[in-house]
This record gives sequence, C-alpha cells and structure tokens, in this order.
Amino acid sequence: MLSEKLNSKIDDLADRIRSSRYTVAFTGAGISTESGIPDFRGPKGIWKRYRPVELSEFLSDPDARAEYWRRKLEMLPLMKKAMPNEGHLALACLFKSKHLSVVITQNIDGLHQKAGIPQSSVIEVHGSNTYLACLSCRKRYEWDDILPLFDQGVQSPRCDACGGWLKPATISFGQAMPEEEITRAFGEASKAELLMAIGSSLQVYPAAGIPDETRREGGFVAIINNEPTAQDSMTQLVLRGSSGEILRDLSSIVCGNCFLLR
Ligand code: NAD
Repeated sequence: MLSEKLNSKIDDLADRIRSSRYTVAFTGAGISTESGIPDFRGPKGIWKRYRPVELSEFLSDPDARAEYWRRKLEMLPLMKKAMPNEGHLALACLFKSKHLSVVITQNIDGLHQKAGIPQSSVIEVHGSNTYLACLSCRKRYEWDDILPLFDQGVQSPRCDACGGWLKPATISFGQAMPEEEITRAFGEASKAELLMAIGSSLQVYPAAGIPDETRREGGFVAIINNEPTAQDSMTQLVLRGSSGEILRDLSSIVCGNCFLLR
C-alpha cells in the first residue's frame, strides 16, 4: 500500500501527463532492479563489489580485459533471462496510449523494447548489451556466435574483419558517447513539456544533463526514485518509492486497466 502523500503525488503526475503534449521518460538502472538486474550506485549496487574497467585498461592490459570478460560472462545469464517488470510495462502502456512520446535510457538491458516499445522510440545513450561490436570498425556480432569462442579457450575475441577487439556494444568509462543518440536525446529533452526521470541517481554526465535540458527549455521534470538523487532540489515533484509500483498506479490512472499489466 502506497502512502497517502505518495498517492497524491501520483495523481499530480497523472494530471501533468494528461495535459502534456510531449512527454519523455528518462530511465536509469533503478527501473530494472525489480527485474533482477542490480544497479551501480543503489544500496545493493554493483560498485559496492567492483570498480569499473575503463576502456584504456581494456585496450592496453590483458589482465584488465580478462577481468572485464569474467564479469560480463558472470552477469550475462541474468541479463538474458531478465523480463520487463511493472515499471517497463507501465511505460509501454503509456506509450501505446500515446501519453508517452519517447524513452531515453541509460540502461543497456533492452527491457523497454522487450516490454513492447519499438526500437525506434528507445534512445540508448549508453549503448546496448544485447549485441557486441568491434571497437575498431564497429562491425556487429551476436552473442550466440561469440559465446562458443570462450568455451574454445579464446580469452578476448577479435573482429574477423579487421582484428580489432570485440566488446558488448555498451559505453565503457573513458569511451566516447554515441554522438547520434546523445544529440537525439538532448533534442527530445528540449521538446519535452514533461520529463519523468525514473530510477537514476542523476549523477552520470553527460546523460544526467538531459533533465537540465528540459528545465532550460521551460519543461517540467518529475523524479521517481527510491533514494534521494543529485537533482531533487531542482524539482517540486519527487516521488520516492519503487518505480514498478509507482508507474503501475500511474499508468492505471492515465490509461485505465492496461492489458499489459493484468
Ligand atoms: P545508478 O545505479 O547510478 O542509480 C540507480 C538509482 O535507482 C539509485 O539511486 C537507486 O537508489 C535507484 N533505484 C534502485 N532500484 C529502484 C527501484 N526499484 N525503484 C526506484 N528507484 C530505484 O544508475 P544510473 O543513474 O542509471 O547510472 C548507472 C549507469 O550504469 C547507467 O549509465 C547504465 O548505463 C549502467 N547500468 C545499467 C544497468 C541496466 O541496464 N539495467 C544496470 C546497472 C548499471
């Protein structure tokens, strides 16, 4: 049961969604924890255990590369079997009922698409873990073709076209952001009358600058997160709690009893 105060904030946000002509969702790792994928900076975050491997280390140090792949392969089964939770499904309901125009996500798990939002309406600013790419020529590879190489003893697979290192198509620390996606994300944020920042600590720049862009252009930003974020003081509407529960209630007010959530 959500508190009375939270319920009244959900009603407020539902009214804003109904009257907004352009609503954007900006999601972070927190929306996927209820699907079993840990976040980075939350109380049970991955960085309580690990320091990230930077791109320069991946390129120059065989031990760092081996450690990168060890962690990736450990997490992969979890990522592959993860299913969209109520939060992803609620956003898909809002999208299908035309109350949500686009999702900008920092996530690499592909769960918005699995929930039913088309790839063309999901902007992945930190790339995707659902496939791999060559770091030199960007040739794309599928996991099913690369995984058997590890069983054959390959420690770090290379591109068959140019010999470059393969890596999941995610943006590592020290790696350039995908220019096209970032430009598109900031463009969408500037058009937004309403931007909902969901499950993000709002600390990782440049992505955390996306809500700033909406504010700068006169749009309204609402924050849904279970802990304080770096930008709570910049908005009047902070909904503190589980993104799955809040979004489920929000979408049932805005779109009625959506079939996706039954
Ligand atoms: P973050 O880890 O910095 O912050 C996540 C926030 O979500 C935290 O404040 C946490 O308290 C909150 N949270 C956790 N569970 C929640 C829930 N059920 N309901 C509401 N809030 C919840 O995440 P970030 O800001 O997205 O940045 C971390 C980076 O790590 C991202 O850029 C992303 O690329 C990557 N990442 C992605 C995944 C994924 O794809 N699922 C998982 C881990 C990290």
